[in-house]
Amino acid sequence: MKTACRVALTIVFLTVLGCRNFSASSPAQEAERFGITDSPGDHPIVGRAVATTSTVLGTQSTVRISAGWTENNSKASFNVYAAMPTGFGQNEIMASYEECACIVVQKAALSGWLKTHLGTNDVLLGMDTQNLLAYMLLHEAGHISEWNKTQTASRKDSASQVSQKAMEIAADEFAGNAIARALDAKGSERGVAAAKLAMTLSQLSWNLSAHRLLDNFGGTILNKPSLFGDSGLSHPNLEWRILSVNAAITKSEAARQILDDFERRRNGDTGYHLFPR
Ligand SMILES: [Zn+2]
Repeated sequence: MKTACRVALTIVFLTVLGCRNFSASSPAQEAERFGITDSPGDHPIVGRAVATTSTVLGTQSTVRISAGWTENNSKASFNVYAAMPTGFGQNEIMASYEECACIVVQKAALSGWLKTHLGTNDVLLGMDTQNLLAYMLLHEAGHISEWNKTQTASRKDSASQVSQKAMEIAADEFAGNAIARALDAKGSERGVAAAKLAMTLSQLSWNLSAHRLLDNFGGTILNKPSLFGDSGLSHPNLEWRILSVNAAITKSEAARQILDDFERRRNGDTGYHLFPR
């Protein structure tokens, strides 16, 4: 979602709804009261993703999320809404809003997002969409955690000091650490849910590198900035982010080396040159 749209949506949240303490006539109508269009067909998959994320976060987590369309959604949780594309960017899958304590998910954008970032090569591994959404929700939980750490009064000051990229990295870190902690609960429902997310992230990482190597032939050896740099001002390079999270989760030497190699190329320090220097 473009910044202007996000601001506009936030304004809609504030002016139409006030904050999370409003009284809605029914949970199903809440999404529309937020100025978005509810997407009931996406409730099952988004609901299961919410359940997986909550399981991985565990009962001790300071961040809680719940399906916003259910009757028993807790006021202590951030409500997750499944939304139609109205008001969202084509490739924007989800966004969190502090003002309404909610996360809006546009599941319909996922296939376009995957095509943009992974291409359509036959060698790509199939990925579990529900677990991918669950990881993204975990990342959003990271943003919420950061908001919780900062007092509202000082938030404006700190927001201007912390770059958007730094906030994204902090949210990734939160998500990676949450998975790593949950993996320690081996054999439990929480441990199994975390293992599935870790597997999905490995598959995403593999697919990202396959796309880079096969669909951008020669670009890796040349350290093409379009492959290793950041594509915009708000988010760091996606492959670098996923490699970083994978290394934090597995703590394996192999994952660390793959990340190191990517970072050397990202920083232009690989020793590979097209012509002798
Ligand atoms: Zn984010």
